[in-house]
Amino acid sequence: MKETKYETKQLGLPYPKNDAYGALSMPIYHALAYEFDTAEEMEAAFCGYTTEHTYSRVTNPTVQYFEERVKVATGAHGVTALNSGMAAISNTFFTLAWSGSNLVTSRHLFGNTYSFFVNTLNAFGVEVRFCDLTNMDEVANCIDDNTCALFTEVITNPQMEVVDLIKLADVAHNRNVPLVADTTIVPFCAFQAADFGIDIDVISSSKYISGGATSLGGLIIDYGNFDWSHSPRLKSFTDSSLSAFHFKLRKEIHRNLGAYMTPEVAYKQSLGLETLQIRYDRQAANCKALAEKIQAMQDVVSVNYPGLPGNPFYEVSKRQFGANPGAMMTFDLDSKERCYNFLNRLKLIHRATNLFDNRTLIIHPASTIYGTFTPEQRAAMDIYDTTLRLSVGLEGVDDLMNDICQALAM
Ligand SMILES: *Cc1c(COP(=O)(O)O)cnc(C)c1O
Repeated sequence: MKETKYETKQLGLPYPKNDAYGALSMPIYHALAYEFDTAEEMEAAFCGYTTEHTYSRVTNPTVQYFEERVKVATGAHGVTALNSGMAAISNTFFTLAWSGSNLVTSRHLFGNTYSFFVNTLNAFGVEVRFCDLTNMDEVANCIDDNTCALFTEVITNPQMEVVDLIKLADVAHNRNVPLVADTTIVPFCAFQAADFGIDIDVISSSKYISGGATSLGGLIIDYGNFDWSHSPRLKSFTDSSLSAFHFKLRKEIHRNLGAYMTPEVAYKQSLGLETLQIRYDRQAANCKALAEKIQAMQDVVSVNYPGLPGNPFYEVSKRQFGANPGAMMTFDLDSKERCYNFLNRLKLIHRATNLFDNRTLIIHPASTIYGTFTPEQRAAMDIYDTTLRLSVGLEGVDDLMNDICQALAM
């Protein structure tokens, strides 16, 4: 019998060893170290000839089960679970980059990713090249023999720009460069990253996957399609049955950086995976419905959601993410004061950062996430004082709309 539905596959995945008590859900193995019967078995495990667990910074049964579930959902070659989205991004680039290399990306980036590239990675001799990822000539001109990766977010936050992934992957692959993407905004139950040429996927599982803001987590997904023999950093690891990227990441980088997911979080996020599809479908549909209604309001200057006909990215977004591209939208009022007045009058919608909580959240990105950036940096990143970002939850659309209407009526 072949199971095809996302939920059936998630709920049916057995764990690798029988539990002594027949527990129906995967127990949380809080063990730090694992005992061996003989010195020979110990040697084999530590040297990688067997896959027995040795120490929970390296692998842990509960975390591994969570990784297996993500593998089942994505069909990936290798999955690594870390303790935040930023840990996933930093582990990925410490695996890919080398001193003297460059990475090509856009200025439209999540704030900490931007800071990681510009302030952290740059200090280790990695040049960050910013370009317009919707302009393929510009992208091609930025890539050279020392480019370690082309990096993009699939829907940028909060600019809501949608890149054409197939075109971008073509430009990267023509130069033997991997396409690395942050796909946090549209989860894998709704978007098959490998079909659009993404080689390495990084995700903040703190968002949809956690099951509604239960815990911090991150994922690195290697689809196993890229030929690493062209990478100066990874070409010497291409003999293994694992991809060179996954091999280097698992045998060296993640152990040395020490940011593996904890078993408690893996347990919570495994539960999150079970309800991911149903929550995502509802939240994305709610977001689309709200975007349509907010767009019709007089006091709203503009609404930015790629699922609305008329949005400049409508066609490419539909091709990549379907009719309802995620549960995040932005809208603009005519001044910062108006935004603050509106925020302060809301009664149901929560003034909070984070995305894809089960509740609806709102934030003024310019004064918060980008509050410590210089005005010049904000301008270069297209962050405006008039923009509000909404992450839509599971509440009734009419209730949310009533709150928005009462807060706008002033
Ligand atoms: C939240 C977020 C991150 C960072 O994830 P953490 O789990 O908070 O470290 C990275 N990228 C995007 C697009 C995000 O929304």
